[in-house]
Amino acid sequence: MTSSRLERLDRVRSAMSTAGVDCLLLSLGADLPWLTGYTAMPLERLTMLVLPADGDATLVIARLEAPRVEEDRDAFAVVAWDEHEDPVELVARLVGARRELAISDRAWATFLLQLQATMPDAAWRAASTVTGPLRAVKDAGEVAALAAASSAADRVATALVRGDIALVGRTEAEVSDDIGRRLVAEGHQRVNFAIVGSGPNSASPHHDATARVIGPGEAVVCDFGGTMDGYCSDITRTAFTGDPPEEFQALYGVLQEAQAAAVAAAAVGTPCEQVDRVARDIITGGGYGEFFIHRTGHGIGLEEHEDPYIVGGNGQPLLPGHAFSVEPGIYLPGRFGARIEDIVVASDEGPRSLNRVDHALAVVEA
Ligand code: ZN
Ligand code: ZN
Ligand code: ZN
Repeated sequence: MTSSRLERLDRVRSAMSTAGVDCLLLSLGADLPWLTGYTAMPLERLTMLVLPADGDATLVIARLEAPRVEEDRDAFAVVAWDEHEDPVELVARLVGARRELAISDRAWATFLLQLQATMPDAAWRAASTVTGPLRAVKDAGEVAALAAASSAADRVATALVRGDIALVGRTEAEVSDDIGRRLVAEGHQRVNFAIVGSGPNSASPHHDATARVIGPGEAVVCDFGGTMDGYCSDITRTAFTGDPPEEFQALYGVLQEAQAAAVAAAAVGTPCEQVDRVARDIITGGGYGEFFIHRTGHGIGLEEHEDPYIVGGNGQPLLPGHAFSVEPGIYLPGRFGARIEDIVVASDEGPRSLNRVDHALAVVEA
């Protein structure tokens, strides 16, 4: 195991002490691989790292899955359970008398309910209250992994804005599959999503690619990303098939200005909500305020969406190593929409955009 993981364990233990958490229980989600390199299978057999603030960590895992674990005795012990055993009892025994517990946000409710029944006097909270702020700050290796994933996504986005990915005459689903194949060809192990919203569908931010055939004279919002060596990419570019009407050009101009200003505002020390406000004020000033219907961005790392969230109400100041999206959008229901998204890292040298693809409206052949 890398020393960075041992150092992460130390930081988690000290954050637990500060927060008054006696024991962390990690199951599904990214906290477990972040600390151990092991990703739990999302199955009815319980996998759980029992990590006391004041003791050694133990990974409780079904015996048939234990061979997948890359052991590291410096970091954690492995206890394999057999099919006739009750892993919840095992976890409760390792927890012992500790009663201030934090459990993975994505642990199955069925296990939490069984653990609560076994330890009725325990107090519970979400593990992200301890791990979220720590995982949000990326070390140099993590920033390099995010940059590599972003560069791979950039190569696909470059093909899109140059018109090398045919749009007109194909269905959204075909274009989505094409983008997904290209993400893999560029080095991603997994495609997490490839949103293609055309025509009126471009006004639906999380549109699912459908059998709709893309026509001439349409906005096409493409938002895609995947996982490469554990870390996520996420980029959005908007294309227009043929000559865009003036109304769309005006909308896009406001959006482009808002996105660039928000990236420039993302300096260390700036509260997350201020970055959101910069984008929102410009879009509101352009007359589209009511059509910017989502937050400006989200943190990114082992997960597509994680801390810090670039949203009104989040007063957390940006720290060096915070990695997040800046992705304002404007959506006129039933007509058209546009979004521009880059991944940005806050650093002492200023905001660093990991995506480099041109932001100008991509006018492609109709
Ligand atoms: Zn989204
Ligand atoms: Zn996205
Ligand atoms: Zn995003």
